[in-house]
Amino acid sequence: MGQRNEIQHWTLIEVAQHVAAGDVSAEEVARSALDTIEELNTPLGAFLTVTADQMLTQARAVDARRTRGEPLGKLAGVPLGIKDALCTRGVPTTCGSKILVRGSEPWRPPYDATTVARLWAEGALLAGKCNMDEFAMGSSTENSAFFPARNPADPTRTPGGSSGGSAVAVAARMIPGALGSDTGGSVRQPAAYTGCVGVKPTYGRVSRFGLIAYASSLDVVGPMASDVRGAARLLEVIAGHDPRDGTSLDQPVDAYEAACERGVRGLRVGVPEEYFGTGLQPEVKTQVEAAIHLLEREGATLVPVHLPHTRHAVATYYVIATAEASSNLARFDGVRFGLRHEPPAGDVTAMYEATRGKGFGPEVKRRIVLGTYVLSHGYYDAYYRKAQQVRTLIRRDFDQVFGEVDVIATPTAPTVAFLLGEQLDDPLTMYLNDVYTLPANLAGLPALSVPVAPAPPSGGGSPLPVGLQLLGPPLAEARLFAAAAVVEAMLTSRQPPGALSPTAPTP
Ligand code: GLN
Repeated sequence: MGQRNEIQHWTLIEVAQHVAAGDVSAEEVARSALDTIEELNTPLGAFLTVTADQMLTQARAVDARRTRGEPLGKLAGVPLGIKDALCTRGVPTTCGSKILVRGSEPWRPPYDATTVARLWAEGALLAGKCNMDEFAMGSSTENSAFFPARNPADPTRTPGGSSGGSAVAVAARMIPGALGSDTGGSVRQPAAYTGCVGVKPTYGRVSRFGLIAYASSLDVVGPMASDVRGAARLLEVIAGHDPRDGTSLDQPVDAYEAACERGVRGLRVGVPEEYFGTGLQPEVKTQVEAAIHLLEREGATLVPVHLPHTRHAVATYYVIATAEASSNLARFDGVRFGLRHEPPAGDVTAMYEATRGKGFGPEVKRRIVLGTYVLSHGYYDAYYRKAQQVRTLIRRDFDQVFGEVDVIATPTAPTVAFLLGEQLDDPLTMYLNDVYTLPANLAGLPALSVPVAPAPPSGGGSPLPVGLQLLGPPLAEARLFAAAAVVEAMLTSRQPPGALSPTAPTP
């Protein structure tokens, strides 16, 4: 128990270092993670599938390499959770949906997503597949077709979504890192609500091959970790060109982990007024502003900026995302999976209804109907084309601001984690959780969420995690890591990287 506690509190990089040094075997790390998962997964709902056998097999392979003196990868012996939207060879993959389950048998993909394969190549261990909103549609993980996930900071509250399971597993210290996917905020918002680090890379920076599609022009795979450096190392491993994804960028990958030591001296930080107005919970605002002022204290310059088209982001996103989803999800016809009833012979319409209706939950159905509507003849120009035009305006706002500043700092979400059930019957309020995260997806920009000091919920109560969002121009992830590491140092009262002052700031 003592050793398990110690291992569970190591950061991702510490785990890799201790395994490489032989202080602990990968198998001991795996067993420790399994013990914690066994204790916490039922109450918190982080994993849909726990892959104990695979994790132990991978761990023993790492230990054998070490014994033989062979080189170990950057993630050797590190247990990771993978959002169930990513394909894992031979391992159940449901995307949080019953449409990918036949009878009681979930789909087992015959291949690994590129991001997943890259983790294994560096010696990482698969702890399991993480819970999520069905098809990544949601902001609370309550749309999971199986069970909701709960926030470790307060289990009566949501961990956010849609990558809620990945965030819970990391925040509850079951594992030091995980992969999620972010179409409109699904990595950053749950990271903020649970108190971990979540990164949405530049569109195309990370391969989407093997990521079950939601909205293809917005989807990105992103890392989550208990600390900034852990997230940086994960991104370094998963980023880079992939010929199997036509939108993958053929650009070299920066040294993200090294960038964490850079500090923020001379960094110009844009603070957009539009992200601090009505709707932002005052307690959240206070903590986010305090973190931004810390960046200033460490040598950054704050610049007030404007992103006027941000107010159209939610409307624009919900037209584009649902349009793309309605097209992407058309492949789930229920013929091979999701079929609960034998179709009446020859009656295609009846078969279609029998399967679709049975397979998808209400939010996914709502999105398919909305997406089909905005693409339909007669409405296409009014909605879809218009949304694409506004998307361009939103991107131009950012282009202009990034002519003046290096990064933009905002809250990640307008409130702290809300209560389970609180927004379930109110899709519009639920959609507003992503008001600050959606613009980065619409513009294809990199963004991350890093924890700042916690804040109480608006009605009062114990403080809950709060995230600061940092955004950059395309491929400027390294800059975001540099600034996030400074913010993190404030919270942990470590000496900030590149610090101006000889003494560590008090948190
Ligand atoms: N909450 C947003 C939605 O429901 C974003 C989800 C995501 O990023 N996958 O679409």
